[in-house]
Amino acid sequence: MSFSKIGIIGAGISGLAAAKQLASHQPMVFEATDSLGGVWKHCSFKSTKLQTPRCDYEFSDYPWPTRDNSSFPSYVEILEYLNSYATNFDLLKFVSFNSKVVEIRFVGHHINVLGGGGGGEGLSTAAVSQPIWEVAVQTDQSDTVQWHAFEFLVICTGKYGDVPKIPDFPHNKGPEVFGGKVLHTLDYSKLEKEEATQLVQGKKVVVIGYKKSAIDLAVECAESNQESYLTWKLPLNKYGLKPDHPFEEDYASCQMAILPENFFTEADKGKIAFKNSTSKWWFWEGGVEFEDKTKLEADVVVLATGFDGKKKLRDIIPQPFRSFVEFPSGMMPLYRGTINPMIPNMAFVGYIESVSNLHTAELRCKWLARLIDNQFKLPSVEKMLEQTTKEMEIMKKTTRFYRRSCISTFSINHSDEICQEMGWSSWRKKSWFSEAFSPYMSQDYQEEI
Ligand SMILES: Cc1cc2nc3c(=O)[nH]c(=O)nc-3n(C[C@H](O)[C@H](O)[C@H](O)COP(=O)(O)OP(=O)(O)OC[C@H]3O[C@@H](n4cnc5c(N)ncnc54)[C@H](O)[C@@H]3O)c2cc1C
Repeated sequence: MSFSKIGIIGAGISGLAAAKQLASHQPMVFEATDSLGGVWKHCSFKSTKLQTPRCDYEFSDYPWPTRDNSSFPSYVEILEYLNSYATNFDLLKFVSFNSKVVEIRFVGHHINVLGGGGGGEGLSTAAVSQPIWEVAVQTDQSDTVQWHAFEFLVICTGKYGDVPKIPDFPHNKGPEVFGGKVLHTLDYSKLEKEEATQLVQGKKVVVIGYKKSAIDLAVECAESNQESYLTWKLPLNKYGLKPDHPFEEDYASCQMAILPENFFTEADKGKIAFKNSTSKWWFWEGGVEFEDKTKLEADVVVLATGFDGKKKLRDIIPQPFRSFVEFPSGMMPLYRGTINPMIPNMAFVGYIESVSNLHTAELRCKWLARLIDNQFKLPSVEKMLEQTTKEMEIMKKTTRFYRRSCISTFSINHSDEICQEMGWSSWRKKSWFSEAFSPYMSQDYQEEI
């Protein structure tokens, strides 16, 4: 069994940011698939674009080649940017592709179990170098696993992708009774361009969902099609569907979606029809049926019903730590969005969201690198729990969708506290004028030398 200081699981944006910031420790990065980029590689359709402006979704030390271009980059451009970042900083040498972590074991001492620092003494990382976690890695889907030991693990398996969330249906009303084809967006994104077109062309397509993937898909179907139905939970007035909660709640829960260019054109042409689906629905032989007894006919039903990212954690984190991953409220307690106070020598990157998840992940990895290098200590477990509880209360106050762990309403304050803990100034601009009048961006958080 090999032993290294740092193991990183996942090579999406979070895993890449972690690998870059922890590069001096020669981390081992395990990536289940054969490529970098996570959701941008595996959950994208031909129409998928970033909905954060590119200069916000940018590593602080690696500007987009065309950062002043105000268009939203396509997923292909994002993947190019990420691959170029990895090549530029020589990160690929750390990554083992087709290497899925299938089990994690805790091999530390009992004393570590009680929290990140065992009572305010910081993570037990620097003093002694010893294995705390063992990780089983399955390569190329072979039957055998290889074990690797680490002193510190960074979990970057992502909140989305990999595990589709499939709704429960009443008895005899599931996909089995439907005569057409049912698939999840995750399956749709695996199709080649031709296959995807063939699947929807000339067909009645019902897209179940209301978030970004559902909207993109509805437009894609409408463009190559006669008609598609989008079941829409956050509806539009114009189409006779009145929103049931204020816009701010979407912002506070990171659920805003920027509509694709052709959305209204296709809707106005009648190629996208809406059905408010806050009520329950199920399948019938010819399509889907709603609680109000209305029926939609369909040849294809696409479930844009989201992902169960927490299952990925539940599958690999051992007990008793698995039970600490989530509070009963369904939220993950993460100090500085990164450390679960009850789990020693482990960090989680990519589990809190903001308007730019890349920036959020990168800054927290800078903080993590300094923590691991003992540049500051963690507070006591009690203090960390107090802080995470306070943040959860803020999220609960701002949106009923608080379980998403979105910090958009206090992300600058969150970053300020992180800077202060790292010993950086939280005033990041070069002048008072910019401080007052220009927005904060990733580049404001470049290294302080
Ligand atoms: C359609 C879509 C659009 C989005 N648009 C935006 C946007 O505009 N702006 C924004 O800020 N955010 C957006 N997001 C959120 C997006 O998830 C984040 O921005 C970011 O890409 C997440 O990166 P990540 O590395 O945390 O997770 P992921 O991208 O999910 O990467 C996780 C990686 O871990 C690997 N992995 C998982 N389990 C294992 C295992 N057991 N062993 C080894 N490897 C494993 C996976 O293969 C994957 O490569 C969007 C998400 C989706 C799905």
